[in-house]
Amino acid sequence: MSDCIFCKIIEKELPSDMLYEDDDLVVFRDINPQAPVHILFVPKKHIAMPVDVKKEDEAVLGKIFRIAAEMAEKEGVADNYRILVNNGAKAGQEVFHLHIHLLGGRDKVVPM
Ligand code: AMP
Ligand code: ZN
Repeated sequence: MSDCIFCKIIEKELPSDMLYEDDDLVVFRDINPQAPVHILFVPKKHIAMPVDVKKEDEAVLGKIFRIAAEMAEKEGVADNYRILVNNGAKAGQEVFHLHIHLLGGRDKVVPM
């Protein structure tokens, strides 16, 4: 989608601190980290919100959990990370291209 910042990052029209890319997804650091390690996992397909997920999206979403585990190992937070997804503005979603947050390396559990 032309006005979507995550589509622009995927298309390399906007810069990012990209950590991983394959045919299905990209992984880059959050620009405003809320934890020592804060990484976003973004399907290349423009899915606006979790509530829009279809059966055809199951594979990429499952893959994200596996890649997240690998990234957590690489980042040294395999024993201390959370996965978080916001659905809708009222829940705190700001970017309307589905993304999965990995928040790692924090000492205690706080809302986000
Ligand atoms: P959410 O509130 O779940 O929609 O999360 C959106 C996240 O995207 C926030 O944590 C932002 O800090 C992050 N973000 C916004 N723009 C960028 C960008 N250009 N590069 C990296 N992360 C971004
Ligand atoms: Zn998009």
